[in-house]
Amino acid sequence: MNTSIHSAETYPALRMHIDGEWVEAGDRRTFDVVNPATGSVLAALPLVDAADLDRALDAAQRGFKIWRNSSPEERAAVLNGAARLLRERIDVIARNATLEEGKTVAETRIEVLATAGLFEFYAGEAKRIYGRVLVRPDGARSIVMKEPVGPVAAFAPWNFPIANPGRKLGAPIAAGCSVILKPAEEAPASAIAIVEALVESGLPAGVCQLVFGVPNEVSTHLLASPIIRKVSFTGSTVVGKHLMKLAADNALRTTMELGGHAPVIVFDDCDFDKTIQLLTTAKARNAGQVCVAPTRYYIHENIHDRFVSALSERMAALKVGNGLDPDVQMGPMANSRRPEAIEGFLQNAMSRGGRILTGGERIGNEGFFFQPTVLTNVSNDMRIMNEEPFGPVAATQSFREFDQVVEEANRLPFGLAAYAFTENARTANRIGAALESGMVGINAVVLAAPDSPFQGVKQSGHGSEDGPEGVAACLVTKSIHQL
Ligand code: NAD
Repeated sequence: MNTSIHSAETYPALRMHIDGEWVEAGDRRTFDVVNPATGSVLAALPLVDAADLDRALDAAQRGFKIWRNSSPEERAAVLNGAARLLRERIDVIARNATLEEGKTVAETRIEVLATAGLFEFYAGEAKRIYGRVLVRPDGARSIVMKEPVGPVAAFAPWNFPIANPGRKLGAPIAAGCSVILKPAEEAPASAIAIVEALVESGLPAGVCQLVFGVPNEVSTHLLASPIIRKVSFTGSTVVGKHLMKLAADNALRTTMELGGHAPVIVFDDCDFDKTIQLLTTAKARNAGQVCVAPTRYYIHENIHDRFVSALSERMAALKVGNGLDPDVQMGPMANSRRPEAIEGFLQNAMSRGGRILTGGERIGNEGFFFQPTVLTNVSNDMRIMNEEPFGPVAATQSFREFDQVVEEANRLPFGLAAYAFTENARTANRIGAALESGMVGINAVVLAAPDSPFQGVKQSGHGSEDGPEGVAACLVTKSIHQL
C-alpha cells in the first residue's frame, strides 16, 4: 500500500447492490466522487435508472418476506458478523472515508468503531423484541405483538459517511425489515463497505439494497411505491419536510433526523479550561459539519471577554490540513458548497456589525479548507443566528440572567442538541429541564452512544435512532383478542 497521504490508491471501485447482486456502472449515468482535500476525482459512481429502482423494490418485497420470518439469533449473527468484519477492516474503511469526506482518520476510525458497536447492540436488541399477554375472563386473552413495519426506504447524508448508513441499516435489519438505502453520492465507499460486511456475514439476497442516484428522482420513485412502508431520512430540514409530504401520500411511517442549531450556555461557574477544550474539539469535529455541532455560544457576561479570547486562541492553534495526516486536527469541508456557504454567513454577519476574532478565510487554493473561526458582536438578525451554518464557526454573545438565556436558546424552531457548562448541580438540573432539545450535553459534548436514543424535537425532526428506540421505530404493534 502506498502510504503517501495524497494517494488515492486504496479507494475502491464503486458499485451498487440490488437483489443479492453487485451492480457496476455499465451504460448507466455516473457521478464523480471528489477528494475534498485535493479537489481531484477519486472514482466514478454508478447511478440507478428507473428499472434498477423497480428491481430494488421487487427485491425488497421478497427480502421482507424472508427476513420477517428469520429468528432473532439469525439477525444477531449477521449483525455481530458484520461488526467483526468492520473492526477487522478499520484501517481501509477509515482511510477511504477520509479520502471521500475529508474528516481526519482519527474521526473516521471512531465512526467505524461506533458502527460496529451499534450493530453489536442491535444484535442484542433483536433478541429483546417482546410482546405481552393480557389475561381475560374464562381463559380468553389479548396478545400484543411487535412486528417489523415492512420495507424501509432510507436516505443518509455525507457528513458521517460510515455512521449514518450504519444507523439506517442496523435498526431495520434487527427488527426484521428489508431496506433500500441511498447514501450520499459524495461519500459512497463507506456505505459499500458496510453492505459488503453484512452480505459476507450471511444477510440473504433482497434484505438490503444499496442504490445511488439523483436524490429527488430516487426518493420520488421509492416513496410512490406501495411496497415501501417507512422512510428514514437524515439531512436538512427543508429536504425532510419535502420527504414527509411525499410520505403522506402512502401514509408512511417516518423517522426524521433533521437540522439543528445548537445553543451552548456557558455559566460563570464552569470549569473554564475544560469547557474551552471541549468546545474547541466539538467545533472542529468534521470542520463543524455535524448536526449537533455547538453553534450559538451564550457566555455569561462575567467571563465573556476572557472566554472568547481563550477560545479564539485555541481555535487559531488547531492544525488544519489533509485528514490523512495524523497530526491534523481539522480536515477540509466536504464539498465546494460548504466554504461558499460559510463565506456567505460571515459576509452577512460583518455587514450587520459582527467581528471576527480569528479565522474567517478559506485556506489555500486546493481543496475546500476553511479556517476555524470565532465571530463575536452577533445579533439575532444575522443569518448565522437563524440558519444552520454547518461549518467551523463559533458565534458568541454574552448573557446575564438564566431566564433570558433560556429564552434565547429556545428561540429557534430547531431542537436537536443543546449544551450547558456549569459546576453547580442545581443550575445543571434547571437548565437540562428548560432547554427545548432532543439531546442536552451538560459539561459534555458527546451525545451519541449505541444504547442511547438520538433524536430532535420541533423542526429538527421526530423519531429516534440508536438505543432500543431505534429498533422500536422499525416495529408496528398488533393486538390479537382471542376468546
Ligand atoms: P441537502 O439537504 O441537499 O442534502 C443532504 C442529504 O440529503 C444529502 O445526502 C442528499 O443526497 C440528500 N437529499 C437531498 N435531496 C434529497 C431528496 N429530494 N430525496 C432524498 N434525499 C435527498 O444538503 P447539502 O448541500 O448536502 O447540505 C446542506 C445542508 O444540509 C447543510 O448546511 C446542513 O444544514 C444540512 N445537512 C444536515 C445533515 C444532518 O446530519 N442533519 C447532514 C447533511 C446536511
